[in-house]
Amino acid sequence: MKTIPNDKVIYKFSHEMKVVESISPGEIIKVETNDCFYQQIFSEEQVLNEIDYDRLNPATGPIYVKGAQPGDLLKVKILDIKVKDKGVAAVVPDEGVLGDQVTKPIIRVIGIENGYALFHGVKIPIKPMIGVIGVAPAKEEGIWATDSPWKHGGNMDTKDIKAGATLYFPVNQEGALLALGDCHAVMGDGEICFTGLEIPGEVTLEIDLIKNKTTKWPLLETNEYTMILASGDTLDEAVYEATSEAVKYIKNSLGIEWEDAYILASLTVDLKISQVVDPKMTARAAIPKYVVSTDKLISSL
Ligand code: CA
Ligand code: ZN
Repeated sequence: MKTIPNDKVIYKFSHEMKVVESISPGEIIKVETNDCFYQQIFSEEQVLNEIDYDRLNPATGPIYVKGAQPGDLLKVKILDIKVKDKGVAAVVPDEGVLGDQVTKPIIRVIGIENGYALFHGVKIPIKPMIGVIGVAPAKEEGIWATDSPWKHGGNMDTKDIKAGATLYFPVNQEGALLALGDCHAVMGDGEICFTGLEIPGEVTLEIDLIKNKTTKWPLLETNEYTMILASGDTLDEAVYEATSEAVKYIKNSLGIEWEDAYILASLTVDLKISQVVDPKMTARAAIPKYVVSTDKLISSL
């Protein structure tokens, strides 16, 4: 199994990136990831504005997938996410949902023991997830810093991007050029204060290709749902995009009228907030698999 080391990182998803490793569809790889601060924060005594802000949100990669062409889907199954035994969280004035109420910056170093993060006497069961994961964007979409989510993926900060889940990215460039980083040991929907429990990780992925199928936004398959992960300048915009795609996919895969698909979506689809603290907001529309299976949804694309 190939391992991609965590010193091979990008800070921007662009249509041109220097490849660090090539793999074939069907291959299983291990990717070492840095935390969003590139491990620059390790003590509560540190001063946040003294770290190097040019090294935030490193994503390990990019990885070239042989045979991937624009117009295909890159299938990324997350087999395992291992995280270290200590993570960091931070509060910064003017950041997060309640940034206006923050009176001082603080850093908290939070230990993990036997699957629980311990904070102020609360035992939090960890649920490791990947914050930043994406592929090269289309040239006309421009260049995206790794701190932002968009159609290529990026900083989607979605807690369902966890072991057992599968992501589907639209391929925009030859080789797809996958990169990832910014694991969180745990995070609630919204990422309210602007960090999760930020932590280095070791992610095992199985990579595959679905030829001649594409989507506007990344899809995420869990045990229960197929989700559309959409982002926008506001949560309203993200919700509109995610819903619009969900209704379209239900209509096309079941072969029913758009208005009926809209009703069916209203009865079954869950809208969830992924994050509201990045340069763009991310929401997800979750279509239950009993409405349409992920395979059927993808074959109707
Ligand atoms: Ca993040
Ligand atoms: Zn993060």
